[in-house]
Amino acid sequence: MALMRKSRQPKWNRRHLLGLRELTAEEITYILDTAEGFEQVSRRSVKKAPPLRGKVVVNLFFEDSTRTRTSFALAANRLSADIIEFTKKSSSVSKGETLLDTARNLEAMGIDIVVVRHGAGGAARLLSRNIKACVVNAGDGFCEHPTQALLDVYTIRKIKGSLEGLKIAIVGDIAHSRVARSDMWAMTKLGAEVIFVGPPTLMPGQVNRLPVKVSHSLDEVIEEVDVVNMLRIQFERLGGNPFPSIREYSHYFGLTVDRMKKTKPDILVMHPGPINRGLEMESEVADGGNSVILEQVTNGLAVRMAVLFLVNQAAAMEK
Ligand code: ASP
Repeated sequence: MALMRKSRQPKWNRRHLLGLRELTAEEITYILDTAEGFEQVSRRSVKKAPPLRGKVVVNLFFEDSTRTRTSFALAANRLSADIIEFTKKSSSVSKGETLLDTARNLEAMGIDIVVVRHGAGGAARLLSRNIKACVVNAGDGFCEHPTQALLDVYTIRKIKGSLEGLKIAIVGDIAHSRVARSDMWAMTKLGAEVIFVGPPTLMPGQVNRLPVKVSHSLDEVIEEVDVVNMLRIQFERLGGNPFPSIREYSHYFGLTVDRMKKTKPDILVMHPGPINRGLEMESEVADGGNSVILEQVTNGLAVRMAVLFLVNQAAAMEK
């Protein structure tokens, strides 16, 4: 009886995707498997599927974005939804309207899914508690960027087959990175070992409470890892100077052609973008044979189609 009840449970029943910390490994795997199905749609000559026909998706971006925003817009388009683009600069937010008022007004027009990026941690959760539409977090402060991490693990799984037993270094400005946090949850839940690498000044407080190892030397770990994910220094979020000079940072933590000579031959080089070439990574490495940076971008589309599809389906089941 218990078994029967278990097998009848839907594999995904969340109307919102707020972060990966709260998801199980099974839920993450289910999103990745669903994304695999949607990858096929992008290979067809007519790159459209009907599941979100008649639905309205709003891209509500209070921070700049290139990849995430375009990718969500294209994902919504490919699922046949109508998409509304909202930016802080061209809206009444510049006149002092709050996040909640903005969202409630958009909701009054009948939107179904809000994709939100905001500088404040918890912004997506706040919205999810106050509006009826589905909410998808496209990055909140330093907290989470779930679809980035999903596309990262999707890319790794696609190439390596599984994350089980892999060693993954996440390098750079961990303290200010929502990507590092979401990656950490996704990667460890799927069985990888994660090492945060960076200077002590760019490590989050209480890092010893997180399910990761910590290293302050890229040279110490570079030979043993299967994947290296290089992060941008989030200058826009820095209060002071976390290291003496950019040159010194690159010397110790940059992924250089020289350092690449020490890695496993099949190491995957990743970056969530935007890259500061010459700072966290040399151009030859970013464009080199081990780089999967553009594959990450391609896979992001299928992953975001899966997320939009799944939250919408969960909302429909609740009705
Ligand atoms: N695009 C990612 C983010 O929005 C990473 C970055 O900006 O460095 O968090």
